[in-house]
Amino acid sequence: MNTEDLIYKLSELGKSSQQLDPQEPERLEMINDVTEYANQFIAGLSTVKAFKEKEATSLEITNQKRSLTDLLDLYQKEVAETGINAASGKHLGYIPGGGVFAAALADFIAAVTNPYAGVHYASPGATTIEKEVINWLKSLLSFPDNAVGCLSSGGSISTLIAFTAARDKHQVKNEFIKKNVVYLSEQVHHSTQKALRIIGLEDVIIRYVPLDAHHKIQTGALEEWIKKDISAGLQPFLVVATAGTTDTGAVDPLDEIATVAKKHKMWFHIDAAYGGFFILTSKRELFKGIEKADSIIIDPHKGLFLPYGVGAVLIKDSSAVLHSNYYTANYMQDGASEEMLKSPANVSPELTKHFRGLRVWLPLQMHGIEPFIACLEEKLLLVKYFRIRLAELGFCLGPAPDLSVSYFWYPFKSDVEKKNRQLMDEIHADGSVFLSSSIISERFVIRIAILSFRTKREIIDEAIEMIKHCLKKVKSNGRIEN
Ligand SMILES: *Cc1c(COP(=O)(O)O)cnc(C)c1O
Repeated sequence: MNTEDLIYKLSELGKSSQQLDPQEPERLEMINDVTEYANQFIAGLSTVKAFKEKEATSLEITNQKRSLTDLLDLYQKEVAETGINAASGKHLGYIPGGGVFAAALADFIAAVTNPYAGVHYASPGATTIEKEVINWLKSLLSFPDNAVGCLSSGGSISTLIAFTAARDKHQVKNEFIKKNVVYLSEQVHHSTQKALRIIGLEDVIIRYVPLDAHHKIQTGALEEWIKKDISAGLQPFLVVATAGTTDTGAVDPLDEIATVAKKHKMWFHIDAAYGGFFILTSKRELFKGIEKADSIIIDPHKGLFLPYGVGAVLIKDSSAVLHSNYYTANYMQDGASEEMLKSPANVSPELTKHFRGLRVWLPLQMHGIEPFIACLEEKLLLVKYFRIRLAELGFCLGPAPDLSVSYFWYPFKSDVEKKNRQLMDEIHADGSVFLSSSIISERFVIRIAILSFRTKREIIDEAIEMIKHCLKKVKSNGRIEN
């Protein structure tokens, strides 16, 4: 190809590729379409069902151009209106989702400006924002200044990062793996066992420590296990406490467990993915001892009401974290002279990554912390209110919750489990408010999990009406069967 042909070809290709970089009038039009869509979506939340059991179809990529408005219609039908509506305040199942608007704008700005958030040299601003978010979390949880941390995609990856540091610090490898013992609660989130498997610790010994009536670790029983294991020649390595379990919202006795862990030179990890931000509320006392952990995970996409995709991990031993994650390559030598800990890439498995710091930083800077605290306090009171209303209907309730998760069941005269399952099915079929179930202390129960920033008293009233209606159905079915 001669130069003239080359120039011609470039101008032809340029005409086509230019479509990827629209001009201002087109951009404005697109933004208006999206704004209109977002407004309609949010306005609809109060009337739309929280759950719709329906498969998504017609989403295949066909290589045919379609207008943004058509695609937004498609999105609404096939994505927004199928499954659980996690942006809805009527989502009271599992751990509810968030999606504060300022975070959505932050994601937009992060994507438009696209700074390289993994390496300090490449974006001092983006990495500093991320560092400031980590600093804020450190002060929230009374972690020392020299602890390290990073923002991850969520609790599962945070756990993976923390356990990897624990593994490397305690040199749990080769033939020692089978001699190391990990102490868990039955109520631990399954991402805990999953992380152990992923990082090559499938063969460690796992002890499930007995729990008390409030589903909390019994520290006495924990220490007995540890002593027994030591005298059997085993190596107690890691103990995991949860500050707000997924199933019941229980906060383990962190301070007591910290003492035991320290005495036996073990790594103490706290899973505060769901419950961590309640430390900002009147429940602060429950979190006593949290600062004694070696590592802690906390999910801003739960307790800070942010959209899915942002978790955080804090770890005290920076050299363990660097051991696992720090690596230099020739193609990165321009950045290598920078201080290691300024770059998120050195303390996380990720190199190139989403600039998630902005979606935490911007909402906190715009709103201040006070509305977040009010929202958390509101959730604590809403679960109380929900329980009072359920008791009025004759439901049995789990123990008074530490945080904003609780459970209930109906004491049917016969077939209690079967009928409570029917009740759950009726609630799912109705879908106006979404609840999920669990098995707690061998009993089938329906869970209440209140964490959406959009959940208000009116929604709890709506849930009660729905439950009343569904209960009536199950009761009358029973009569027909009999
Ligand atoms: C949600 C949750 C996790 C897992 O976090 P993801 O962000 O879903 O990966 C871990 N632990 C607890 C207690 C949780 O509630």
